[in-house]
Amino acid sequence: MHSVNRKLTAISPATGKVIAEIEETPLSQVSEIYEQARAVFPIWSDLSISERITYLKKLKEVMLKELENISAVISEGTGKVKTEALTADLMPTLDAIDHISRHAESVLKRKRVKTPLLLFGKKSYIEYFPRGVVLVISPWNYPFQLAMVPVISALASGNTVILKPSEVTPLVGKCIEDLFLKAGFPEGVVQVAHGGKELGAALTKEKPDYIFFTGSVRTGKIIQEQAAKDLIPTTLELGGKDPMIIFADANLERAAKGAVWAAFTNSGQVCMSAERVYVERPVFRKFVELVKKEVEALRHGTEEDDDIGSMTFPAQREIVREQLEEALAAGAIIETGKPPSEWDDGMFLPLTVVSNVHQSMKIIQEETFGPLLPIIPFDSEDEAVKLANDTKYGLNGSVWSRDLAKARRVASKLISGSVVINDVIINFVNHYLPFGGAKQSGIGRYHGEEGLKIFCHEKAVVENSGNRLSEVHWYPYKGKYPLYLNFFKSYFSEKRDWIGIMKSYLKLMKKSRD
Ligand code: NAD
Repeated sequence: MHSVNRKLTAISPATGKVIAEIEETPLSQVSEIYEQARAVFPIWSDLSISERITYLKKLKEVMLKELENISAVISEGTGKVKTEALTADLMPTLDAIDHISRHAESVLKRKRVKTPLLLFGKKSYIEYFPRGVVLVISPWNYPFQLAMVPVISALASGNTVILKPSEVTPLVGKCIEDLFLKAGFPEGVVQVAHGGKELGAALTKEKPDYIFFTGSVRTGKIIQEQAAKDLIPTTLELGGKDPMIIFADANLERAAKGAVWAAFTNSGQVCMSAERVYVERPVFRKFVELVKKEVEALRHGTEEDDDIGSMTFPAQREIVREQLEEALAAGAIIETGKPPSEWDDGMFLPLTVVSNVHQSMKIIQEETFGPLLPIIPFDSEDEAVKLANDTKYGLNGSVWSRDLAKARRVASKLISGSVVINDVIINFVNHYLPFGGAKQSGIGRYHGEEGLKIFCHEKAVVENSGNRLSEVHWYPYKGKYPLYLNFFKSYFSEKRDWIGIMKSYLKLMKKSRD
């Protein structure tokens, strides 16, 4: 008798309606999935990089053909507007395929490096080889690109991949699985396992060769603990509480527009959302008024011309509610938006800007991941840096000033994986830059060269022609000690004593032949 598999229900957060049911991957299938991934690894890793890139290009072709369909699936499954599905989920994935297609060969090719004089007669190079089976676990806020970019990077580097997308957006996970099928990847090279945290935990325990995780700090710690048991290397891309620092000499209109977009795009469910804005006191009120004007012009909805979609995950709505209630009870003032007591039951939350906020409040210390923007005044450059660095997170942040020397100076002092000057979030889109967090925002980097190299072992090779009978440092040691003393004194002296070096080296060589 066949047991009936459980289903993941895909709900449209915007309408609350069930849109699909996706078959869950049973836990009993986990070892079989790994067996298949391990079985095809020798074949996939044996392909040349350009052969693997051919598959990625096919994937891009399929994506381009189905662009509208995929953006509709992402929008329906997350509640985000289609424009954002296209610009922030699909575009970064297409761009990553392009970037990897252009650069993977040069990043991962064998690299000759210098060999110091001490190793006279030898050559050195570095070689990159794939790790094996990579497990990618991804979240619901950008369910397409945060799954696809690590998956295609790991594939280009020669690994086979098991992807566990978020159970909150199962339709997007299914869409990804179908795209790889349509692109004709060999069976087992990419497998998508559909399920929740139990499945994620079971896949983590099965000892992949690398884990690439994007999600919350809480889950990141659980995964890291499990991975440590078998010393499995990981990349953890975790939460953020990104600050904006706005000086009085900034282009204030632009800063206000930037703050509103960075705080409310994807309904604030962005790891790099602007979650706290520090404004120099003389322009504080003016800035708040500019922000209010911008916010009040935005349109909620799911139509093509709308700006703000719905929240995606019902539990997240409650976190936003709790943080706002706590702040209001402690004296925060709503500049625009509504207190939770006036919210309706739906997933479209009012865009709320608050002032009279203190550094110790949860809306300043904890990740909100919702459409909530606290604005705080500051009085000096040092104070702004201190406040910006005063959370456990360090993902991204921005500094706004027309004085670029000052902006760069402040940017250098922020403890975070990325910083943007007079702009927001955008560094994520430049694949020449590494991406990742400081402090509890994560461990490791991807994108850029690192994005391919993390999925490889780095092998250091030294090559000797093998013609000489022996090496000076090999046995016997008899009579070599005083010669070494002279050799090192000549070699390491501030001004190298070349005659001393040659004399003692020749004597050492002779001793090796004796
Ligand atoms: P989450 O940690 O709840 O879940 C992420 C993934 O982990 C899901 O697929 C989930 O099923 C899986 N999971 C949960 N428990 C697990 C366990 N014990 N073992 C293995 N897998 C498990 O995060 P989320 O709510 O989906 O995503 C939101 C979080 O992700 C936010 O904190 C956000 O800041 C962060 N995020 C970070 C980045 C980044 O690049 N730094 C990007 C986007 C989102």
